Amino acid sequence: MTRTFEIAVFEGDGIGPEITAPTLRLLGALAARSEAYSLRFTPAPAGAAHYARTGESLPAASLATARRADAILLSAMGLPDVRYPDGTEISPQIELRKILDLFAGVRPVRLRAGQPGPLRLPEGAEIDFVLIRESTEGLFYSQGAGVVEQDEARETLRITRATSEKLFRFAFALAARRKAAGRGKGVVTCVDKANVFRAFAFFRSIFDAEARAFPDLEARHAYVDATALWMVQKPWEFDVLVTENMFGDILSDLGAGLMGGLGLAPSADIGLAHAVFQPCHGSAPDIAGQGIANPLAMILSAAMMLDWLGETHTLPALCVDGDRLRLAVETVVTNGTALTRDLGGRASTEAAAEAVARALAP
Ligand code: ATP
Repeated sequence: MTRTFEIAVFEGDGIGPEITAPTLRLLGALAARSEAYSLRFTPAPAGAAHYARTGESLPAASLATARRADAILLSAMGLPDVRYPDGTEISPQIELRKILDLFAGVRPVRLRAGQPGPLRLPEGAEIDFVLIRESTEGLFYSQGAGVVEQDEARETLRITRATSEKLFRFAFALAARRKAAGRGKGVVTCVDKANVFRAFAFFRSIFDAEARAFPDLEARHAYVDATALWMVQKPWEFDVLVTENMFGDILSDLGAGLMGGLGLAPSADIGLAHAVFQPCHGSAPDIAGQGIANPLAMILSAAMMLDWLGETHTLPALCVDGDRLRLAVETVVTNGTALTRDLGGRASTEAAAEAVARALAP
């Protein structure tokens, strides 16, 4: 029996439509070959250009599409010149995290042996870890509501027990799946600053309590500053890292750097009922409309979506196709013949995506 999944597609701003089109073609081609599932793509107009045209950045109809869909695929939203009257940027992707309670920001950092990257890895070593960034509270809790007085400014960091419990359970479950799949060591590290801040000691104590439910996994602690150092010195030793929103924001860009840049960094924002899959990069207005954007981070995000749908609906065919899509991208990066300019090549968006399609061919 074929199961159909509805995917809400936010093609967004800037390079968004250029990287969305080939990604949907690849997904469509995979689904067309499968007897287990099919995908129905529903466009969800939103973002800065939409706001400029209509006065709405996240229309109710698009939000309804997102809520109804089985998964949400989003490219990038926001344009520097289009702002709300108070001067803030248009970022429906951040609103979606809050509205849909997407507490776990999942940022895989992967560099296969032989794949070019900024670090020299020990012979045969690979980087393969996942950074989980709490995405609804932490220091971003007071976003837009910080207090600025004449000689002083204050922002509030908020850590709640309810969100931390969900976050840590998610992190341990992910580590267990990675271990079962032979891709992880079964180690979860809580990244914090518990030696200085009470809020982080609280965060860590909740982590330790949740760890007790996963006796087959190892629970470790690390301070955020040491973690930044180790991400450069020995990133091949990490498995699953879980941290607060602001720390995760910073460390995930460091993770993107380890892979060779934003053009290769996928992400997922996952909650208990919904999930958004999108590249880590923004709408890159400086290169929009030229057909030169790197589509690989978007394609890797789509691979994460297939994997998540497969896990959530216990449909292994989706996980298999997610893996195939990821491996096809890694093959293209390792071969190095169809790289876009950000990775030092000359390929167009379409040529890079076409190379992924060829690497996928049976
Ligand atoms: P945001 O704040 O919305 O995340 P940003 O200001 O960090 O965005 P990006 O839009 O991510 O900026 O762009 C940063 C730089 O990286 C730009 O020079 C952009 O052209 C480049 N860049 C981002 N994504 C890609 C991509 N997919 N392909 C090629 N270059 C990219």
